[in-house]
Amino acid sequence: MTEAAPAQGAAWFEETLHETVTGLGYAQRFRMTHVVHQLVTEHQSLVIFDTPKFGRVLALDGAIQTTEGDEFIYHEMLTHVPILAHGRVRRVLIIGGGDGGTLREVLRHKAVETATMVEIDPTVIDLCKEYMPSLSAGAFDDPRTELLIADGLKFVAETDQRYDVIIVDSTDPIGPGEVLFTEAFYADCKRCLTPGGILVTQNGVPMFQPQEATNSYRRLKPLFGDVSFFVTVVPTYVGGMMALGWATDDAALRRQPESVIAERFAAAGLDTRYYTPGVHVGCFSLPAYIGKLRV
Ligand code: SAM
Repeated sequence: MTEAAPAQGAAWFEETLHETVTGLGYAQRFRMTHVVHQLVTEHQSLVIFDTPKFGRVLALDGAIQTTEGDEFIYHEMLTHVPILAHGRVRRVLIIGGGDGGTLREVLRHKAVETATMVEIDPTVIDLCKEYMPSLSAGAFDDPRTELLIADGLKFVAETDQRYDVIIVDSTDPIGPGEVLFTEAFYADCKRCLTPGGILVTQNGVPMFQPQEATNSYRRLKPLFGDVSFFVTVVPTYVGGMMALGWATDDAALRRQPESVIAERFAAAGLDTRYYTPGVHVGCFSLPAYIGKLRV
């Protein structure tokens, strides 16, 4: 079936991240078939719109956050890689992640007893629940969910709780997300981890944001025994592979054989669309230009 030609004067959403913010003179754009909601919250500008290819899309401060069409890649990788690498996860902390996709994937692990999510902007949660319900798929109503509306920086500085895995599902280091890339934040995350716990972070697309990856690496390295990245490709996070940050004191956790991961994957009974044990093992093999950002 061929798609209908766009109407004359069709409205486009142009992502400004790599033009106005990183200044690279590069943009991606989506034809909007419908603007579902648009407002400025207490923390950021928000727009939800429909597109022909990627379904409903959420953008914050001009940057694409998630799309119905490819969100599964990011959320499965950010979640299943640390949880299955660890192998005994009971308590998970999510910082950010207002669309609910990460929470949904975390709760698919029946062994997880508590998933605490700390999101600064309640409007993102409310609007995603209403207009993009497949992202959270009921996860906010799960009795294992503890939802807190707070700044993630402040939460990790003050809590006495400990977690086996911390997932930083943040915006880019602009606006409210900037503090989630600081040394102080990473140090408090380290304090909030159980021994052998794992911290993973959204670390941008290295082709366009190499300094973001290097900055995080430099800030994490003095705090943890093993710091690196793992990679995936999400079409609407343009620029090729994206880097996800990895920090733990147990260096063995990212070098486990595929057979061990496959056993845990089978025991968890997960039916995934992107993640496989083979992808898990391979995602720690970094292309040279990304590996060289660990300086
Ligand atoms: N997948 C997305 C990406 O790659 O950019 C991230 C999605 S998620 C919507 C990001 C969330 O982080 C937003 O809802 C935003 O409100 C939240 N956030 C930003 N700064 C925060 C902070 N300091 N504390 C807690 N949540 C924060």
